[in-house]
Amino acid sequence: MVIRFYNTLSRRLERFEPLEAGKVRVYTCGPTVYDYAHVGNFRTYAFEDLLKRYLRWKGFDVVQVMNLTDVDDKTIRGAREAGVSLGEYTKPYIETFFKDADTLRIRRAEHYPRATEHIPEMIALVKRLEAGGHTYASEGAVYYRISTFPGYGKLSGMNIGSLQPGARVDVDEYAKEEARDFALWKPFGGGEAGWDSPWGPGRPGWHVECSAMSMKYLGETFDIHTGGVDNIFPHHENEIAQSEAATGKPLARYWLHSEHLIVEGQRMSKSLGSYFTLQDLLAKGYDPLAIRYLLLSTHYRRQLNLTFEGLDAATAAVTRLTDFYRRVSEYGGDGGEDFAEDVGKAAAAFETSLDNDLGIADALATIFDLVTAANRAMDRGELSAAGRGVLVATLDSLDEVLDLFHPTPLALGEEIEKLIAAREEARRAKDYARADALREKLAGLGVVLEDTPGGVRWKRGAPAEPRGEPRETR
Ligand code: AMP
Ligand code: ZN
Repeated sequence: MVIRFYNTLSRRLERFEPLEAGKVRVYTCGPTVYDYAHVGNFRTYAFEDLLKRYLRWKGFDVVQVMNLTDVDDKTIRGAREAGVSLGEYTKPYIETFFKDADTLRIRRAEHYPRATEHIPEMIALVKRLEAGGHTYASEGAVYYRISTFPGYGKLSGMNIGSLQPGARVDVDEYAKEEARDFALWKPFGGGEAGWDSPWGPGRPGWHVECSAMSMKYLGETFDIHTGGVDNIFPHHENEIAQSEAATGKPLARYWLHSEHLIVEGQRMSKSLGSYFTLQDLLAKGYDPLAIRYLLLSTHYRRQLNLTFEGLDAATAAVTRLTDFYRRVSEYGGDGGEDFAEDVGKAAAAFETSLDNDLGIADALATIFDLVTAANRAMDRGELSAAGRGVLVATLDSLDEVLDLFHPTPLALGEEIEKLIAAREEARRAKDYARADALREKLAGLGVVLEDTPGGVRWKRGAPAEPRGEPRETR
């Protein structure tokens, strides 16, 4: 079936075909590790995870590269203010990024190149641009002269005429000939990270990092370049200018950008207390799986409004999916219906939806319809044992893309373990009032107990009082 993606470059839905049959090369702008990633960043990473899982499910061999921007103005400033080396400063943010991504079941990329480990490649690219007449040096910096690249603006549609030559837009870059020109190499400011170069000691500009690393790992032209919409201009526009001026070839053939996550209708802002990291949401008692669901379930080209109501609804939705999967797995009936046609149609509709520019909302709607129909069949004992087998196999296949059917592994805190044990004890002693009180208390902590013939089982529910105080602002 035909795959279509919306290409920011052409502003159209385009049929997707990789350069090399069966193989897809993807470059993804990764985190700038000067602080903890926020849930907005993870919205973009979750979209990229869906893209990769879907392409793999379609049978492609996918190679994804995600850079770690571990040197730029913000990381350098942070390290200087903390009085530590750049490496010491970025380390905890890198570690937490991987931990959070794992918690959200975001599959790892094949390569995570770090900017600080690719300085020679960046210098080589700047030299290549210099040899082609695309640069000028000024006061220890090297700038890209945009007037030498006629294609500038083709990705963003930016009206670059509005940027007046000579306008002083940035104190850090006062020596530019034209406001729109950007730094490829910045002089060493003293007391901070710096590398030797033909232009004197300094460090790379942010944009050149991605051009050098993407081409190193994926070749001069690759299939898909992704990022959030804020990356379109100037970052991706500048990547195109650098790479294409150097190679004379298109950098990426499809440019996919995800819209932003906003909070309660506003931009995420630390000062408004509307800024959340994954840890902030987990501390409020939300299940990481519900957060994954929320991040994935809105189409990537639509803004996602994060609200507590939305998180509660996502909690209910994933509970429905995980309960259903468990019920089907444990179903012991053997009725006369195999539901093969329904299951086959649902799987086909799921695929068609995703083929259409990752139409996740339709894909999920199909799954919920299947859940309703199969639950009904199990209620009535109509589902056959063979049908159950096909259903489980189909759900397992769809879950390669979604990763939403298996509950978060139970990592109970000590306090919760103690409460569950105390409730068991109270039940054994037939002190039902106390047992109920403990159950209530657990519910308040987001732990729902179920007494089943096989013993007590528990699962996550929405926390009773999720709001609490906003995170410390700064
Ligand atoms: P950064 O660490 O700022 O370089 O951003 C990492 C990734 O997160 C980039 O792809 C950004 O486009 C993306 N991003 C930043 N803010 C948001 C947001 N509020 N919602 C979704 N994606 C975002
Ligand atoms: Zn980038």
